[in-house]
Amino acid sequence: LTAPSVRLLSYTPEPEAVVARAGRTCYDSHHLSSPDADARLIRALIRRGHESVLEHASLTFEIVCSRVVSHELVRHRLTSVSQRSQRYVREDELRYFTPPEVADPAAQREYDAAMIAAWSYYGMLLKRGVSKQLARYVLPNACLTTMVVTANLREWRHIIKLRAAPDCQPEMQEIARGILAVVREAAPWAVEDVA
Ligand SMILES: Cc1cc2nc3c(=O)[nH]c(=O)nc-3n(C[C@H](O)[C@H](O)[C@H](O)COP(=O)(O)OP(=O)(O)OC[C@H]3O[C@@H](n4cnc5c(N)ncnc54)[C@H](O)[C@@H]3O)c2cc1C
Repeated sequence: LTAPSVRLLSYTPEPEAVVARAGRTCYDSHHLSSPDADARLIRALIRRGHESVLEHASLTFEIVCSRVVSHELVRHRLTSVSQRSQRYVREDELRYFTPPEVADPAAQREYDAAMIAAWSYYGMLLKRGVSKQLARYVLPNACLTTMVVTANLREWRHIIKLRAAPDCQPEMQEIARGILAVVREAAPWAVEDVA
């Protein structure tokens, strides 16, 4: 695999309505609600940093990526994460991420050889009766993993801002941009100020 995948599993229906309702509750201004006025209100709240209202809408993604990047994602403490377990699931398949930046054919051959060797020793250890939770120590960071990640709009904004930045791990940037594309569809007003 040379590109991580990001798939939307579910999101709060009518996120704009619930966020606007939360905002209007603060000011007891429900009588002023209309689609246009609500959109203006939400923009103003975000501008002012009154972002807690964004916490009432959430999105859940299924992400397939390397363990390099899953480790970075789980540092975001306000997410809820379920991740494929290497304690309970055998890594039978040679499934790993190859950064497209490893472009040189000789480097690619060495990269692939390292993966094949790691998986081969993993298999040998299992055959000797070593448990999955111990044999996995020899597996590489490039090993693919699947995670289901839920977070609210405030936290996704934060993650996108940090992780789509050009100094981040390229695979991570790709995930952040994938999430941004989905949020732009589901709740465009939540990321208008995000590059
Ligand atoms: C370019 C880059 C390089 C990095 N390099 C390293 C590195 O070399 N080593 C390393 O260990 N990490 C590194 N990190 C990870 C980084 O330090 C954070 O752990 C990670 O980005 C999670 O972000 P966060 O803590 O802002 O957000 P989250 O955990 O997503 O939390 C969201 C926000 O909630 C608030 N919050 C959450 N928990 C607390 C708390 N306990 N106290 C106060 N406020 C809280 C903060 O405002 C925080 O920004 C790097 C991250 C980036 C983007």
